[in-house]
Amino acid sequence: MSKLHLITYGCQMNEYDSERVAGLLKQERYELTDRPEDADLILLNTCSIREKAEDKVFSQLGALKHLKRRRPDLIIGVMGCMAQLQKGRIQERAPYVDLVFGSPAIARVADLVERARQGRGPVLETGEGALVKITARPDGGQRLKAFVTVMEGCEKYCTFCVVPTTRGRERSHAPEVIVEEIRGLAAAGCREVTLLGQTVNAYGRDLSPPTDLAALLERINDIDGIERIRFTTSNPYNLTSRLIRAIRDVPKVCEYLHLPLQSGSDRVLERMNRGYTRARYLELIAELRETVPELALSTDLIVGFPGETDEDFAQTVEMVERIAYDNVFAFRYSRRPGTPAAEMTDQVPDEIKAERNRLLLDAAGRAAAARSQRLEGRTLPVLVDGVSRKSADEVAGRTRCNRVVNFDAAGRDLLGRVVPVRIARALPHSLRGELVAHGARAGVRRSADEIVVAGRA
Ligand code: SAM
Repeated sequence: MSKLHLITYGCQMNEYDSERVAGLLKQERYELTDRPEDADLILLNTCSIREKAEDKVFSQLGALKHLKRRRPDLIIGVMGCMAQLQKGRIQERAPYVDLVFGSPAIARVADLVERARQGRGPVLETGEGALVKITARPDGGQRLKAFVTVMEGCEKYCTFCVVPTTRGRERSHAPEVIVEEIRGLAAAGCREVTLLGQTVNAYGRDLSPPTDLAALLERINDIDGIERIRFTTSNPYNLTSRLIRAIRDVPKVCEYLHLPLQSGSDRVLERMNRGYTRARYLELIAELRETVPELALSTDLIVGFPGETDEDFAQTVEMVERIAYDNVFAFRYSRRPGTPAAEMTDQVPDEIKAERNRLLLDAAGRAAAARSQRLEGRTLPVLVDGVSRKSADEVAGRTRCNRVVNFDAAGRDLLGRVVPVRIARALPHSLRGELVAHGARAGVRRSADEIVVAGRA
């Protein structure tokens, strides 16, 4: 067996792609190793959404240079978004990199590695490719929860974003292929799937006949063994009442939605080319909360977008306070090559971005703490997915609203089960809970093999 060391940066889609690559290379007799010094092949699956993500890759490549000097037969490859964006510039800056390929070439990874190994390189593959559903996976690893990419690419052309360049145009996988993949996952013990797409709620409109995410959720709901379904990332522009009703009506769909706002200022939203106003976003939030009162919401926000004034920023903070998200991901605007915003002349200084980021996270933290406290005293169904990070004597799991709960399992093997847990305390980043005994409260009944929590709290 040869050894593969795989380093993944960035989003869940990259995690999914890395699994595919490891699965495909397993068929070529590569097994995963945690130790770069033992590897015959090192692949970096990269992200280029912000400059910092690219800096990390170049500094990692710098560290690997010494390994390559000692072992010239080691193959080093860079794959993913940065490969697609930077193309030949990667090998210009790090000439010891043997192989550079974008996500459309993942299906051909074995062939590309072989070409690099035979010294027919440096190999560079960053063209467009056909959409292929790859379901290969490596051995081992946790199987209770899995990501499943349902569509590739993005056609929104937000002025700050490189994704349309790095991931190409929107292409959906056929529902049959997705259902088949998830059936396989369920048979292997998976209980929760997260469907992935850059604009996942635009799923299916490019298929013939066209379909949508709500229809896909219904089909996945019928798969035995799957307990929970999540999906990300949704774009407000494509959020339909039909999908909102599906969150309420399709039983396995969790009451959690990640809905990037990016800015609370109409002026900035327009310059970002987001396709909605703050009033439209608030209308959607009102419809969501009315239809699915238990819904937990999270968002992405960018601070320091070119031309963002104190007044624009104050409107973003005001939206965060008004909406009271359960979780906020705040990013300092990063100038990305080839995007319209990078050319805007009114760039915001780094110190102002840092200060706004701090203020925004403070406001978001206060709102999220209040949301967490509302859960205290309630009993919620928790899918147990591992050991608590804080104490090996405790287990950890998630609520349907995606909160981490740590609790004492009282010596029982609960891994992969959905159990009722009373929320005793809300901490800043997690909840402390107490396992509720079987049938101890109304709404909890027992099936042959496990505790079933009725209702969707
Ligand atoms: N496709 C999704 C959308 O547009 O709503 C999100 C995709 S992106 C992988 C995740 C987040 O990164 C975005 O929602 C945005 O907040 C942030 N982001 C993207 N480009 C950025 C940039 N140039 N600078 C800072 N943050 C950025």
